Amino acid sequence: MGRGGAVTGLLLASQKGGVGKTSLSVSLASVFAQSRRTLLVDVDPQGSATHLFGVHPADRDLGWLLDMDEERSPTDALVTEVCPGLDLLPANNDSMLAAESKLQTMVGGHRALQIILDDLTKQVGPYDVVVVDTPSNLGIMTVNGMCAVDWVVTPFELEGLSTMGVARISDLLAKCRRMGLTKAQFLGLIANQYEPRLALTKIMEQQVARTGLRCFLTKIPRTVRLREQTLLGRPLVLDSPDLPVSRTLTELADEVLDAMKGGHAQ
Ligand code: ADP
Ligand code: MG
Repeated sequence: MGRGGAVTGLLLASQKGGVGKTSLSVSLASVFAQSRRTLLVDVDPQGSATHLFGVHPADRDLGWLLDMDEERSPTDALVTEVCPGLDLLPANNDSMLAAESKLQTMVGGHRALQIILDDLTKQVGPYDVVVVDTPSNLGIMTVNGMCAVDWVVTPFELEGLSTMGVARISDLLAKCRRMGLTKAQFLGLIANQYEPRLALTKIMEQQVARTGLRCFLTKIPRTVRLREQTLLGRPLVLDSPDLPVSRTLTELADEVLDAMKGGHAQ
């Protein structure tokens, strides 16, 4: 990967859970951070991305910042250098759920994250890349993410139920753009837990192709090593960079960065 240069915000989103949003957010952010100043934002109340870095925020997290009743300093919640070059805005379940229910009814609640990220960069300077991990739904937190980034990708698994909904995020994004909420563009689909030998995979690939959405060429194989990274307290791609899956994740990071730099929107 070439060094340096701002490419800004990337959101990983899907309505379906368990497709790899968090695993890929953490992996991509870690690889981006090797050459660019990177921020990972954990917008999922479950805080899985936060957990994968071994961070356990108590009271000051993104949810605490998203409570917009009073002005709060984003640096008070920021965890710096969770790995070289990477800062984290962590999530703690209780405060995120409280913030989520407030934002749902607040005028302009969809813009809270964008405001926080603007405030943060005023304080600590701009990031070259911002990666946002989202919960598995089309709710206010996902919309907040869409309003705060430039690019959106959807990870998916080539099995029946996951493949059915692959276009839901790009549809929601198009709706948010029509309403003037964001200028973000859909960048593409990422095949995860890929099993090329299964006959089902071929059938599902044809089904996905019919959506007309671009699919990144780099596909992430299903491997128990990635499943085990929860035990490591740090991303597999940093812990074991020479594993085949880590190399594939690095290739994916390169491909995604190239698409962001080239402005290859759908
Ligand atoms: P999401 O954030 O979309 O809900 P996760 O990233 O949490 O999905 O992944 C769901 C589960 O699948 C986790 O247990 C994770 O470790 C596992 N997983 C993700 N990607 C892979 C993969 N390529 N191979 C094997 N397991 C994976
Ligand atoms: Mg997740």
